[in-house]
Amino acid sequence: MKELNKTHSKKRLIKKCHMCGHMHDTATEVQKCHSCKKSFLPSNYFNKIHASNSQEFRMLFSEVNDLHEEDVIKGITVIW
Ligand SMILES: [Zn+2]
Repeated sequence: MKELNKTHSKKRLIKKCHMCGHMHDTATEVQKCHSCKKSFLPSNYFNKIHASNSQEFRMLFSEVNDLHEEDVIKGITVIW
């Protein structure tokens, strides 16, 4: 009988491209669709821009561990 893997799995960010439907499964927010190259905005973009407009744009994309369900757009992105 095979033993169950008891290691704790890491959280994943699953995002669907709203242009082509390509599914992304990553640990960090995707900056561009891997299929059609559509650019995405980071989560809470407008809050981040007003809070810290001196940061470079790419620094606004979060690691999945820094995100919560209320940060993502329902129907497009899910934290798994
Ligand atoms: Zn796409």
